[in-house]
Amino acid sequence: MPAQQTAAGPLDRSDAWGLSTQSVHAGEPRQKDEGAISTPVYTASTYTFESTDELLRFVDGSHARQEYGRYGSPNEQSVERKLASLERAEAAVLYSSGMAAIVGLLMTKLNAGDEVIFFDQCYHRSREFCVKHLSRFGVITHQVKTGDFAAMERLINSQTKMLISESPTNPHLTAIDIEQFAALGKANEVETLIDATLATPFNLRPIEGGVDYVLHSATKYLGGHNDLLAGVICGAADKLESVRQLRGTLGSVNSPHNLYLLERGLKTLALRMQRHNENGLAVARFLERHPRVQRVYYPGLESHPTHTVAASQMKGFGGLITFLIRDADWRQTSRIVDAVKIPRIAPSLGGVESLIEQPLVMSYFHYTAEDRERFGIADNMIRMSCGIEDAADLIEDLRQALEADTDG
Ligand SMILES: *Cc1c(COP(=O)(O)O)cnc(C)c1O
Repeated sequence: MPAQQTAAGPLDRSDAWGLSTQSVHAGEPRQKDEGAISTPVYTASTYTFESTDELLRFVDGSHARQEYGRYGSPNEQSVERKLASLERAEAAVLYSSGMAAIVGLLMTKLNAGDEVIFFDQCYHRSREFCVKHLSRFGVITHQVKTGDFAAMERLINSQTKMLISESPTNPHLTAIDIEQFAALGKANEVETLIDATLATPFNLRPIEGGVDYVLHSATKYLGGHNDLLAGVICGAADKLESVRQLRGTLGSVNSPHNLYLLERGLKTLALRMQRHNENGLAVARFLERHPRVQRVYYPGLESHPTHTVAASQMKGFGGLITFLIRDADWRQTSRIVDAVKIPRIAPSLGGVESLIEQPLVMSYFHYTAEDRERFGIADNMIRMSCGIEDAADLIEDLRQALEADTDG
């Protein structure tokens, strides 16, 4: 894509650059206001026109510029260009959260009578939005077993408008074959969406595999510091135009301060992901060998059912690990969570601080036992997001927690 021209000067963007160079420079004007090296925070809700003539040129489309904060801001443009560049996409649309991004995309693309098909391992709120809310607008949601492409294909009919999956999935870390998923959509003329939050563009590039839309909760690895919420949809510019239009009406946009934090976080994405990948693999290998651990879900382990797919399409496997405690009920499992000293008990993932949680208690407490079974949420399941601490410290901490007396 050629460098675009902005008021401030030519944009840096080179598809030949490595991801680290892109995360530092891509999408930003080379020369900024007052020569500032960082993007100034434009704390404006509205943008002034010097005359009716200038306004007329803006209204007739001959003069592109800012107008009103709900439709965008210079800080937003800068981060959107950087994210599009990292994802190898033409365009990106930012939202105030990952959920706002998925809601924004689906509300734009789906009409009453349309159908969507999900792989069933997914972020519980994405599923809830489709099943509980899109249904009120006449959209039908089907769920099929994760990775069962044949079952997905059987459900496709002329009303099917979108195929949706995460990769890797949360919390089972199942890798979906991206090229197979994209090909299924193309062969049936149905658009495809991958939620690649757990992978990030450092580990996986679904657009290159032929997927139409890539979604991220930028709250996680992209922001990376557990200090902001944001979401993004990446894809082709023409497909995202209507998405951007509706976002301007829904109003789920970021403040310029939040975008500054996200841009700052993105500069170290490659460095952080390298460490998350290293820590994830080291901790997963430790857990797999520990006698109190019954099973570890981590796509970088040869024992994971989708390891081959993951290894063929991912550069690394991230910091998220899910594991089961041998012969433990939910109470004994919770005592291990409580005995850990470095990771903090909290939802979320992908930040510099390690986090730990028991999915049963954190996200599925109000589900029936049947539904938990259906979604594969075991009582003895723990999910840990490895931060960027030293792997040896995380391992030593988990060892003492697993070996503490948790029966009392
Ligand atoms: C957290 C998360 C979301 C939702 O993102 P928010 O920023 O919390 O709204 C969606 N998908 C996945 C895989 C997530 O982990």
